[in-house]
Amino acid sequence: MTLFFSNSNIHPHDEYEKRLLQARTLAERTGCPLVEDTYAHQDWLAFVAGLEAEPEKGRRCLKCFEYNLRRAAEFAHRNGFDGFTTTLTISPHKSSADIFRIGAPLGDFLAVDFKKRDGFRRSVELSRQYDLYRQGYCGCEFSRRATAPPEAGK
Ligand code: SF4
Repeated sequence: MTLFFSNSNIHPHDEYEKRLLQARTLAERTGCPLVEDTYAHQDWLAFVAGLEAEPEKGRRCLKCFEYNLRRAAEFAHRNGFDGFTTTLTISPHKSSADIFRIGAPLGDFLAVDFKKRDGFRRSVELSRQYDLYRQGYCGCEFSRRATAPPEAGK
């Protein structure tokens, strides 16, 4: 198994670095090789253009899934992997059915629902065990704004 870190949706860059560091730690501790994709946030912004004001779980998120799944599919095909899947399905905020629908046409996509069998709770336990940082918002600047606490005095 190979881990593929492809998260051009994450903003700002220091948050991206923080999450990448967790992936490196996990790879080290589990012995899985880690491949780090190029960070192409401007490219990602162009892909979701026009959907900036969409709420989380809306149409921008579907495009975002598509962007990241395409990157994984291209990498898997270029490098002769038998299949690929995504950890996106672990999130209780993301519909596994939507992710499967977007992944299916990409070829060799494995529809694994990591939410099943209490997967999310288990991921929280494991991140504590490995002392991993847990993100406070989904990833992009639009989700960050939506979850930011109101400024003092406003
Ligand atoms: S809220 Fe999350 S899933 Fe939706 S576009 Fe932003 S980073 Fe992607």
